[in-house]
Amino acid sequence: MKDLDYDVVIVGAGPAGSITARRLAENGVKVIVLEKKQEIGTPKRCAEGLNIVGLKSAGIEPNPLWAVNEINGAILYSPAGRKVAIKNDKYLGYILERKIFEKHLAAQAIDKGARYMVKTRVMSVIMENGSVVGVSAEHMGESFNVRAKIVIAADGVDSKIGRSAGLNTVNRMTDYHSGFQYEMAGVKCEGNMLHIFFGDSVAPKGYVWIFPKGHGIANVGIGVLSLVSDDGNRARDHLDRFIANHPQIFAGASPIEINAGGIPVSSSCETFVGNGIMLVGDAAQQVNPIHGGGISLAMDAAIMAAEVAVKALREGTYAKERLFEYERRWRETEGARMKKLYDLRGFLEKLEDEDFERLAGVINDDVIMAMTSGEFTGFLKVLVKIPKLFPVARKMLM
Ligand SMILES: Cc1cc2nc3c(=O)[nH]c(=O)nc-3n(C[C@H](O)[C@H](O)[C@H](O)COP(=O)(O)OP(=O)(O)OC[C@H]3O[C@@H](n4cnc5c(N)ncnc54)[C@H](O)[C@@H]3O)c2cc1C
Repeated sequence: MKDLDYDVVIVGAGPAGSITARRLAENGVKVIVLEKKQEIGTPKRCAEGLNIVGLKSAGIEPNPLWAVNEINGAILYSPAGRKVAIKNDKYLGYILERKIFEKHLAAQAIDKGARYMVKTRVMSVIMENGSVVGVSAEHMGESFNVRAKIVIAADGVDSKIGRSAGLNTVNRMTDYHSGFQYEMAGVKCEGNMLHIFFGDSVAPKGYVWIFPKGHGIANVGIGVLSLVSDDGNRARDHLDRFIANHPQIFAGASPIEINAGGIPVSSSCETFVGNGIMLVGDAAQQVNPIHGGGISLAMDAAIMAAEVAVKALREGTYAKERLFEYERRWRETEGARMKKLYDLRGFLEKLEDEDFERLAGVINDDVIMAMTSGEFTGFLKVLVKIPKLFPVARKMLM
């Protein structure tokens, strides 16, 4: 195959890659996206929840073809089964059909002028004089190079491209959640709410989710901190036990798909910019450390990365110092919020079943908003206002 020449080459056609591609193409940048899978969006590794704010900020109108179920809030379940329903405009969103959503994002980028190649695996970056100047790739058995002024690695949690450019993208083992999920049919639960279950015997240092897609179909999954918990169980073992223990929901249900994957919950990797290269989305570990959601953050980061890339291309300079504007902006905005949520994650991991019961007894919108904002002191102030929560507040200070 002939070598290619582009302004920007993007590795990976997930939400991060395709939003970056669309933004670049809209600005007249000559951009190509290389995706190793033969079909964009498949297999999914996702519970497919996305809030409206995330969609809107990426300039995407919900389309019933892929925004398959509207969500109005969440029901939280304590270890003893106490239900707390949270309905608030901030929790409005959709369950996606991600296989269609990702193709839709790619189609939008292609409409704006981006080029895509599927079944094309990027092997590594090409370095010259300490700078990334392109990638080497393989398409259906044929090797070729793409030279580019900027490489954008949007290659997900298993990202190898950043590492091949010398960036340290690996975090501590305790900063990855292990995710396992069945998409199931025949599930009986309230259809327009997210269902989240807590408790040490349910999901140690994590939670089980049921995200309904409509017509009795739902993503039923678990995210836990360790590959194997203290009792010797894997994420899948915990999930199977949960399903068996809830016949009222799952008696007539069967899996129609299995998904598994790692979820980086570190708030970000050490640095995600180098000479001629930027990492976006899961590749940069831009994931919410509390709930593991990353689509909306990936799309936000993609917009920032594209803006900085456009400016760098106009100025003709691709050194780390120029591209660092993207990392700085991220760290001042979403990154700062994620860092706070990372600290809060440490506190939540100290909670035991009795603490969840205490919270379930008094939880209200103030507590939820304070918790999800990531404002440690704000959250602490809310907790100490409620005498029943003093033992929980004390754990925050430990
Ligand atoms: C079980 C589970 C449930 C989740 N549920 C949710 C949820 O409900 N809501 C939410 O917001 N987030 C969720 N997430 C996280 C979410 O899926 C990710 O944050 C999101 O996909 C990040 O998008 P991305 O574009 O950065 O990476 P990805 O979507 O992973 O895309 C990376 C792309 O790069 C391609 N690629 C990788 N290496 C190469 C290579 N060498 N050459 C070419 N192509 C390559 C991959 O094939 C892939 O298409 C979940 C994750 C898991 C594991």
